[in-house]
Amino acid sequence: MHLTQFRYHKPKTLEEACTLLEQKENAAVLAGGTDVLVEIKKGLRQNDDLISLSALDELKEISKDENNLYIGAGATHNEVKKSPLIKNEFQAISEAASLIGTEQIRNTGTIGGNLCTGASCCDMAPVLIAYGARVELFSLKGKRTVALKDFFRFHKQTMIEKGEIMTKVIVPNLEKGSGVWFEKFGLRDAAAISVASAAAMIKTDGSKCSDALVVVGAVAPVPKISDKAKDVLTGKSTTELINDSSILEQVGKAAADDSLPIDDIRGTAGYRRGLVPVLAKRAVTKAAKRAVDSLKN
Ligand SMILES: Cc1cc2nc3c(=O)[nH]c(=O)nc-3n(C[C@H](O)[C@H](O)[C@H](O)COP(=O)(O)OP(=O)(O)OC[C@H]3O[C@@H](n4cnc5c(N)ncnc54)[C@H](O)[C@@H]3O)c2cc1C
Repeated sequence: MHLTQFRYHKPKTLEEACTLLEQKENAAVLAGGTDVLVEIKKGLRQNDDLISLSALDELKEISKDENNLYIGAGATHNEVKKSPLIKNEFQAISEAASLIGTEQIRNTGTIGGNLCTGASCCDMAPVLIAYGARVELFSLKGKRTVALKDFFRFHKQTMIEKGEIMTKVIVPNLEKGSGVWFEKFGLRDAAAISVASAAAMIKTDGSKCSDALVVVGAVAPVPKISDKAKDVLTGKSTTELINDSSILEQVGKAAADDSLPIDDIRGTAGYRRGLVPVLAKRAVTKAAKRAVDSLKN
């Protein structure tokens, strides 16, 4: 299979990139290309113009201020995985990036590309939603930020409009007493797209769970927050969240009830529905342990 012909552009500024996106009728952004180029090769998409982001250094920056972590949309999965800042203070984001694809995919694929594919199985979405992340979108009209939980409209459909480029992911600092964990199940250990995934954020006031978020991936048209799981978790003793299997059973059932899985080549809907409780329970227990440990430091 060969790539179809396209014009390659390498703009030096964001404005230039957005102008090209506006002007060209059938253009697409090219970040790492691990989705775009594979889809073009398979004949699943065709673009006359590809606008590379590779010369835009500002999209690679990873930084932090007193409120937020900022991850440039062009940061690769390995840059996210290995960033000392992310590893030390936003551990679950580094861990999620380390579970993506292979070394080659992590060296090339970007966090922005992962989210902008809009695939319900993209691994960075559940964990970033659990952290309460927002994304910044830039166009010639200006900038806007969107909560990541609202960014996904349907499978492979996002809120990105023509002429817009995702510039960064903004992750608020975790409040004291909070912990996040991401769990994924693929059909093999390496280079496996998630059949199902779950992320959890647990906040404890020292004895009770004062806030919680469970997000499931690859089991609905978009990464999905389980409101039922939050209802089960809020107000429960944190020790119970770590040790009490009956509460964890309820959490798992709630997360499965909130999912809308489909059959595909990686698994049937029933298989996925069976995975959700296992992954949600693990994510909740481990996030709760992290939340409790964070109070000891
Ligand atoms: C072998 C293999 C294994 C994989 N394993 C995994 C896995 O385990 N988990 C997982 O989640 N994914 C996996 N993927 C999918 C893919 O590699 C990732 O989603 C990757 O992060 C995509 O990023 P990219 O930079 O390559 O995006 P690209 O392919 O460059 O772009 C993807 C889409 O996003 C758009 N886009 C990219 N950047 C921006 C931006 N800044 N602003 C606006 N639009 C943008 C593009 O136009 C395109 O529509 C795998 C892919 C392969 C080939």
